[in-house]
Amino acid sequence: MAAKIIDGVRVSAGIREECKKRVTKLATHGVTPGLAVILVGTNPASLVYVRNKIRACADIGIRSFQYEFPVDAAPAAVIRLIAELNRRPDIHGILVQLPLPPHFSIASVLSTISPDKDVDGFHLYNVGGLVIGDTVFPPCTPYGVVKLLEYENIPIEGKNVVVVGASNIVGKPMALMLMQREATVCICHAKTRDLAQFTILADILVVAAGKPNLILPQMVRTGAVVIDVGINRLPNGLLVGDVDFEGVREKASHITPVPGGVGPMTVTMLLVNTIACAERRLAVPVAGSAEIAVT
Ligand code: NAP
Repeated sequence: MAAKIIDGVRVSAGIREECKKRVTKLATHGVTPGLAVILVGTNPASLVYVRNKIRACADIGIRSFQYEFPVDAAPAAVIRLIAELNRRPDIHGILVQLPLPPHFSIASVLSTISPDKDVDGFHLYNVGGLVIGDTVFPPCTPYGVVKLLEYENIPIEGKNVVVVGASNIVGKPMALMLMQREATVCICHAKTRDLAQFTILADILVVAAGKPNLILPQMVRTGAVVIDVGINRLPNGLLVGDVDFEGVREKASHITPVPGGVGPMTVTMLLVNTIACAERRLAVPVAGSAEIAVT
């Protein structure tokens, strides 16, 4: 039987409705959540991502502030801006769109963002929080995956999870977040020998490698839940994930499509993190402030 397709657009829309209610509640305290987005250069994908984030903020009532630097900008200029944004009370979240040009040290730029405004969850303080199970800002893409699993009532505890991809922004935080939820987690990467011997064991398989057709049906256990984080543009212009969707959907119990699966969740979880930051700053208990209920 073909897998159930997990509709990230629908789940995302439900969470955004909750976000609107939380923004309205903050307004009664005189607070409008504010997100600063910093873009360096003109990477076409980054321009699209930034535009989507700004539009999503506007849709739910978050005030956004966009800052653009030329590709040859001095890192010190960006760091100066971040220092100023750290001090501004109307800015609750700061996001530096990655990648940065090669003359930047991503780590040193991210480390200047105040950890309590680090809505992407990439600051070392927040990464450390994730490691010890005391997360402040969960990184948006893995956070979105966890919410999709919750929405589909897919149990995580005690499950065998295989994460393919070990990047700092997706694979590693994904593995940590699922481990926190009591899964048995295995992480695979480009140097993993015989990937299939690991993926075939997965009750939940999360793939974030950036390689089209990396995961074929024979690599997937019958009834597995398959979450495809990959986004790849084929030469013919088509957007695909890392999983052979048509083949794998015949074996899996659940599967995310690309587009329309994890992608819409990433921006939504950025909104959630920004609102959570404004709520924390207000220091009033707001129902569901750290976590959002998906109905
Ligand atoms: P990345 O930094 O390039 O990392 C890719 C990871 O995959 C690395 O750990 C790499 O291993 C591993 N890998 C590469 N080829 C592999 C192979 N043949 N077998 C097993 N592992 C392999 O990429 P990323 O930023 O994590 O993104 C991964 C994918 O997710 C991309 O397609 C990206 O566009 C997509 N993405 C989607 C969203 C979303 O919102 N849906 C958000 C972020 C990223 P090594 O560590 O050994 O090099």
